[in-house]
Amino acid sequence: MSKQLILASNNAKKLRELQALISPLGVELVTQGSLGIPEAEEPHITFVENALAKARHAARIGQGPAIADDSGLCVAALGGAPGVRSARYAVDAGRIAEGLPRETIDAANNAWLLDQMRGQAQRRAHFTCLLVAVRHADDPEPLIAEGHWEGELLEAGQGEHGFGYDPLLWLPAYQQSAAQLAPEIKNGVSHRAKACQRMLHMIEAQWGLAGLNHLDADARWPWQR
Ligand code: IMP
Repeated sequence: MSKQLILASNNAKKLRELQALISPLGVELVTQGSLGIPEAEEPHITFVENALAKARHAARIGQGPAIADDSGLCVAALGGAPGVRSARYAVDAGRIAEGLPRETIDAANNAWLLDQMRGQAQRRAHFTCLLVAVRHADDPEPLIAEGHWEGELLEAGQGEHGFGYDPLLWLPAYQQSAAQLAPEIKNGVSHRAKACQRMLHMIEAQWGLAGLNHLDADARWPWQR
């Protein structure tokens, strides 16, 4: 059994991406849903505040170290929207009801964004990923890592991989949309990959994993020993 981190999200696709990125540390991500932890409120207007609230909530109820990802798409011509409201963009606009399957909501979000961008020549946009990790709910030193992934908004979706707004973000360096990139390529270069690489270094250095054998089977974290 390896060391565990509670993931403050129930998004299966995010879990898959994060697990692939975090496994080099010998750490297993456990979703908060599998521990019966309800989703936290995300009432804040910045990614960092929402991620911190989600991580503390999961650590408090799950009684263990937790990591949260708050992420979204920021469009220059829309002043950074949909931003922290990315997952609920079409719901906020009254274009679709709450509580529908994630794929249906994603499709409505993408359609609404394309509507908002119709006729707009300035199409610069980026994904942001903000990761926060805490050792316990009241941790006074949360670890905070951020990553961006720049591109341009297409006028129609392309590609079948990934999730969310991936079909709409064109990546000039690859001449493909984020949803056309093979998942293992996305996982090496995305906003989440960049934030994760930074977070892994911080966890190693600041949570006392540096110098330990990453395949160490002890399920306790260094500060618990
Ligand atoms: P959260 O779960 O509240 O952090 O919402 C994240 C939302 O941002 C998702 O529902 C997507 O709409 C969008 N998003 C975040 N990361 C990605 C990504 O890697 N690809 C596409 N969309 C993303």
